[in-house]
Amino acid sequence: MANYSETVNSLRSVFQSGRTKNLKWRRSQLMALLKLLDDNRDRLSEALEKDLRKNKFESNLMEVGPIRNEVIYALNNLTDWVKPEKVKKGILNMMDKAYIRHDPLGAVLIIAAWNYPVQTAILPMIGAIAAGNCVVIKPSEIAENMASLLEELIPKYFDTECIKCICGGIPETTALLKEKWDYIFYTGNSRVGKIILKAAAEYLTPVTLEMGGKSPVYVDEDCDLGTVSNRILWGKNSNAGQTCIAPDYVMCSKETQDALVEKMKITLEKFYPEGPAKSSCYGRLVSDRHYQRVKKMIEGGGQVAVGGDTNDSERYIAPTVLADVTFSDPVMQDEVFGPVLPIVPVKNEDEAIARINAGSTGAPLALYVFSNNQQVVKKFLDGVNSGGCCVNDCLMQGSIPTLPFGGVGSSGMGRYHGRFTFETFSHKRGCMERGLEMESVNNIRYPPFTKNKEKIVTWILKQKLKSNANMSLVIYFMFGTLFAVFLKLSNIDGSTIRTPRVTLRQVCILKIKNFDLSIIILASRKE
Ligand code: NAD
Repeated sequence: MANYSETVNSLRSVFQSGRTKNLKWRRSQLMALLKLLDDNRDRLSEALEKDLRKNKFESNLMEVGPIRNEVIYALNNLTDWVKPEKVKKGILNMMDKAYIRHDPLGAVLIIAAWNYPVQTAILPMIGAIAAGNCVVIKPSEIAENMASLLEELIPKYFDTECIKCICGGIPETTALLKEKWDYIFYTGNSRVGKIILKAAAEYLTPVTLEMGGKSPVYVDEDCDLGTVSNRILWGKNSNAGQTCIAPDYVMCSKETQDALVEKMKITLEKFYPEGPAKSSCYGRLVSDRHYQRVKKMIEGGGQVAVGGDTNDSERYIAPTVLADVTFSDPVMQDEVFGPVLPIVPVKNEDEAIARINAGSTGAPLALYVFSNNQQVVKKFLDGVNSGGCCVNDCLMQGSIPTLPFGGVGSSGMGRYHGRFTFETFSHKRGCMERGLEMESVNNIRYPPFTKNKEKIVTWILKQKLKSNANMSLVIYFMFGTLFAVFLKLSNIDGSTIRTPRVTLRQVCILKIKNFDLSIIILASRKE
């Protein structure tokens, strides 16, 4: 079995040299990625065509285009992302600096899936580089053309001592998982997700698991079904249904189902005028195993209302709609992950919500609701847990880099896209800095612990509910102001308090910055 100890050790020693922490290095590698994408747009499309019969337009729309935008987004925002984040402080830390640093984690492993073989490898890598890590990408062996292309291109464009691509199947991935990584980012099915989590547990390595699930669609009574049909079928049949956030099944009333099926026939004729089998805009199943699995689903429940044709030699399955499916049918027991769309009639939105929550496949990666009624939308948002949600469209929630993308429960853990990817691969380090002056304030926490100190500490530590806080602030402010005036007068007089350590300037600063502190000083002086 392959052994990757040396690879990981060498990555870690380059990381410890600080090379990847340098902002210039991060920028140069992100620029290299941009160049890789621009120089090889056609070759990437060709590999996608060979692996999935993905149309060039779709490759651009769903793979290369969004990745390119994410690189540019990272380059444009990197300066902001790496800035230490200032945080609010409490009474005890008014004079201190408190901030969060975003430190890189070290050597990170990215395990990609075959269905979006560029995105699932490269999108996480953008944030990993932006955060200053060393990276190993393990492309999916199932999208073999893309895996070999990435294996060829990555060493040509990147700093090879810090960024590597390792290809292989289960034995290679198993060997990689035997090593100690500082983060593992996995995309794929939940069976392997458990293997990843177990391997990570050995070294307490943090992970992101981007998995799938049965993403439901609810169609309300009041919708324009022509539009609904276009949007659902586009989401379902992009990449021949092999999309993690593809609408998996539809729930609606029996009447809506019958009308929707008619609209779906029209949509498919519009999308593929020459028929999907001949259309260059329609993909194929990735492998025989996946083809056979999805083909079986056509007989998995209800009646074939649209499509249903297959061609073994091409791994072709027509866009297929199954009507009158029930929740106990085989097609409803697993993620479809292919171009078969079951429609399950339900009484109303309450039944739909109850059914999603009772489903055996856990919280879905995406939730889709088609409705013009905000109350119905809110019912779903409140009543169903899902990784993400999109109202009146499909897939489009994934195109906004300011939204987190990721699952919940059985659909995954962790999130990415945009800044979230950068944060995934960063350690948020809480830091506090203070000066060596003001020791009299600190005196209250040092032994000996007197009754007076106890009273003050109890008072300081007492958290107040927000509604009372405003009134308390007014009282503290008045008290602090009075005390500051009192100290000032005392200093002018020079007799009431002998306080050479508290100058008038300090009092003013205290008064402005933290009127509470004046009280602490007074209290600590009493000790
Ligand atoms: P896959 O077969 O490509 O496997 C994913 C990765 O796991 C590959 O790199 C593979 O080498 C590795 N792997 C496979 N078996 C392994 C084992 N026994 N031990 C260690 N590593 C192993 O992809 P897949 O799992 O068929 O992907 C499809 C699933 O991924 C679907 O459920 C889909 O919903 C989900 N997915 C999720 C997202 C997301 O962003 N949440 C994106 C794409 C796909």
